[in-house]
Amino acid sequence: MEHQGNAFTFVAIAWIFLIGGILLWDGAVTVEFTQARLTSLTPTAVATGQNESVTPEIAAPAENQTAFRAPYVQYFVTQGLHGFSYGQMAVDISGGKGAEIISPINGEVTAFYIDQSGNTTLIIENQVYQVTLLHGLYEVNIGDQLTIGQRIGMESNQGYTLDMQGNPCWGRDCGYHTHLNILDKRTGQNVDPFTLLQP
Ligand SMILES: [Zn+2]
Repeated sequence: MEHQGNAFTFVAIAWIFLIGGILLWDGAVTVEFTQARLTSLTPTAVATGQNESVTPEIAAPAENQTAFRAPYVQYFVTQGLHGFSYGQMAVDISGGKGAEIISPINGEVTAFYIDQSGNTTLIIENQVYQVTLLHGLYEVNIGDQLTIGQRIGMESNQGYTLDMQGNPCWGRDCGYHTHLNILDKRTGQNVDPFTLLQP
């Protein structure tokens, strides 16, 4: 009898622990779930409640993103649309050897490297445009936040540039220009730069 009594007590205690454990576990999960619901619902509720005042705040940065200007104060075109064979629709423009190059958009420097042809390559982008510039002596770094019109470097002939007779300008005093390509990230297509360079 005593042995059976002990066994019964053990089973009863085991049940109490088991049920208590389930209740505790269930309680903890319920609390976590409630907190998750609260944190996920709060921003949505706030945004919905302030819908009318949020719209103009979004409009201002949007104009900021679509703004575009020439990368020089003054320039001339040295080559029309080209680069289709390597996925671009670029133009070559020049402000003269050593001319100041300025940022054509409000954006961030996302790449700065020398490609396999020796071209110094600078990529500036925002939510709308990805602008690629080649051949210059650039003075900015990856991660820099640029304001449209801000100085970013000087015109040079770094990499593969040609003289008027079509001869490469490696180590020679010729071929100064900026190769400019503009990708519209909204469409995934290159933009004819002349449509944006027009005043
Ligand atoms: Zn070019």
